[in-house]
Amino acid sequence: MGIKIALAGNPNSGKTTLFNELTGSRQYVGNWPGVTVEKKEGKLKAAEYKDVVIQDLPGIYSLSPYTLEEVVSRTYLVTEKPDAIINIVDGTNIERNLYLTTQLLELNIPMVIALNMMDLVRKNGDKIDVKALSEALGCEVVELSALKGEGTDSLIKKAVTLAKTNNISGRSSALTGEVKTAIESIEEILKGQADEKFLRWNAIKAFERDEKAVAALNLSADKKSKIEEIIKEAETNLDDDSESIITNERYNYITDITAKTVKKGRAKGELSVSDKIDRVVTNRILGLPIFAAIMFFIYAIAMGGWSISFGTRATDFANDVIFGEWVPGFFDTILGFLHVEEGTVLYGLIQDGIVAGVGAVLGFVPQMLVLFFLLSILEDVGYMARVAFVMDRIFRQFGLSGKSFIPCLVATGCGVPGVMASRTIENERDRKMTIMTTTFMPCGAKLPIIGLIAGAIFGGSPLIAASAYFIGIGSIILSGIILKKFKAFAGMPAPFVMELPAYHIPSWVGVLRATWERGWSFIKRAGSVIVVASVIIWFLSAFGIVNGKFGLVDNLFEDETLITDEYVTELADKMNIEEDEVNPMDASLLAGIGNTFSFVFRPLGFGNWKPAVATVTGLVAKENVVGTFGVLYNYDDEAEELEENGDQIWDRVAADYTPIAAFAFMIFNLLCAPCFAAIGAIKREMNNAKWTWAAIGYMTGWAYVLALIVYNVGGLIVGEVAFGIGTIVGFIALGALLYLIFRKGYVAGEEDKNLNAVSAHA
Ligand code: GDP
Ligand code: MG
Repeated sequence: MGIKIALAGNPNSGKTTLFNELTGSRQYVGNWPGVTVEKKEGKLKAAEYKDVVIQDLPGIYSLSPYTLEEVVSRTYLVTEKPDAIINIVDGTNIERNLYLTTQLLELNIPMVIALNMMDLVRKNGDKIDVKALSEALGCEVVELSALKGEGTDSLIKKAVTLAKTNNISGRSSALTGEVKTAIESIEEILKGQADEKFLRWNAIKAFERDEKAVAALNLSADKKSKIEEIIKEAETNLDDDSESIITNERYNYITDITAKTVKKGRAKGELSVSDKIDRVVTNRILGLPIFAAIMFFIYAIAMGGWSISFGTRATDFANDVIFGEWVPGFFDTILGFLHVEEGTVLYGLIQDGIVAGVGAVLGFVPQMLVLFFLLSILEDVGYMARVAFVMDRIFRQFGLSGKSFIPCLVATGCGVPGVMASRTIENERDRKMTIMTTTFMPCGAKLPIIGLIAGAIFGGSPLIAASAYFIGIGSIILSGIILKKFKAFAGMPAPFVMELPAYHIPSWVGVLRATWERGWSFIKRAGSVIVVASVIIWFLSAFGIVNGKFGLVDNLFEDETLITDEYVTELADKMNIEEDEVNPMDASLLAGIGNTFSFVFRPLGFGNWKPAVATVTGLVAKENVVGTFGVLYNYDDEAEELEENGDQIWDRVAADYTPIAAFAFMIFNLLCAPCFAAIGAIKREMNNAKWTWAAIGYMTGWAYVLALIVYNVGGLIVGEVAFGIGTIVGFIALGALLYLIFRKGYVAGEEDKNLNAVSAHA
């Protein structure tokens, strides 16, 4: 029989870091709470502990039933009965962390306390008397630095020994005097009813009137009323409600113990470096501008056109040289060697389909890696947790909770985990709203779109690149304001308790790993989904009917008898372009298909069939938008007779769109319905077809309206679009939007308040 060990602790105490260290796994380590919602299991990597399984539980402050994380964790502990618990305690925040410890000790499962972040404790000059602490709690304590891998060996040895010997002797209890007596009386009543191991825990839960725990006990009415009597008596005598009575007991106990065992290096009230930094970055006035400036610089360095923008330089090299010359040249050589001639289907499929499509996407990998590297650093040092805090203050004014912002932070990597992270939001209405808006954030797959537009059309403008991020956040905030005014979403903001982790030097291994993980999943998709899509796009764009004859359009166009003046006029007319712009591809099947629905996008400035097709392929995966451009703009331009390279493709794209139309295109593609994977996640989290469609409809509608306003009103302002019907429609849309934002709307009443579970414990 194997041994099961559970890892329990507060959010941000280092559980996942320890879990990864012990199991060699690569779970996501985020420097903010709410990252590990689901529990994760892993086998120990050390050979001698092969039969030991370890379980990373979501971070919790308490075993109460108020949050999903708490319920997941406590259900696991009580029903799965792990052989031992490793309670990971953040040594720099010991008072708060011990609150959970006192509850875990009541479970009567063998337990060892891992006193983590000892490197920081020492640095702060704090002194913790580990031996005295261990004696006071009646539980072994091991010093640990999960980040540096110090102390893990002795920790796991202790945990395994405890699990084998099943030793739970010597535990002290937080309960004293009258409370203790009351709990003991309840224990008497529960005997035989509850698992012996969890008798104490159940008695306390019953005393706290924890409905979920009591329901699981199946008590008779008689027993219930006896317990209620005991509770009432204690409440009268101690003049407090039963839950607070227990909380007080715990805090008194913890204060007692820490007074004897912990000596802080800093005098009370003295500010640490972290506190000093926080005074500035979470400042009421400066917090937001600082965040905006930081994000601007990050996007500028990753994707802007500055000389220090090494992401852009590397991407230019990848686009122009690697995927513009080397890779096509390499395939040219191979295909020549195999006697595959230019103009044949196989040549076209490989060079103009796969190489052009996948190469276009992969060209943006360097920018993406630089961006994710910088974002990972921000996250790891602890800055993003501050951003959530700053955002909470802003969100709150509109009736939103900062909790809704955590999924957005996660979604900057990928929308799927972003949508899943919304599970931590207890308030059903806020959760739905967050699911509906989280994928507005520019995820990794959308970066090539941003890189393409900012790079090719706007000459590497850092403003345009960074605007994608702010358009995402702005859309979420504005959507929040608008939706909150409808009854279906109304309600008070849920409490958002979040402790700010101390800043630390980034763990480079962790940062590089997070960067690589995101980059690798991007590359993997390019090698699978994007290949398939490029092949399909190429086939549909290479074959077509020219003047009644089916075949490869390139070849058909060489047949003078088919390309009559009449035919060219007709085709140009149908495609809404000038006659001298007609290109073989315009006769392709894809052009025909795209032409049937491209009119939908005409009011947004990109009514041509190519962007219309690209937008639709983006639903499969957002990288496809750029991959499709790669295929569709990769034609031989006889008029220009230029050497074929990646740069030229993007130059052609640039020639086809005015800046404001390209910007509208970017906005629409960033905000409209996300990729199928994210839609799947939305469906799972909503667990309801109607709401899933509502989410897709809302996002697409929002994207359309915003792009419409930007193209028509923005275009009029910069002088790119002449006044016309579009302008009027644009202004009407703008007016409607402003009305929805500023109207009074539904005012949350008493019944809406009850929807918010209380979840402040810290
Ligand atoms: P979880 O929320 O409990 O899973 O915590 P994580 O494992 O995600 O860690 C939270 C943050 O604390 C991360 O930024 C870690 O790099 C950092 N961290 C974890 N253990 C240590 C440690 O022993 N020392 C220091 N200085 N930082 C740590
Ligand atoms: Mg975690």
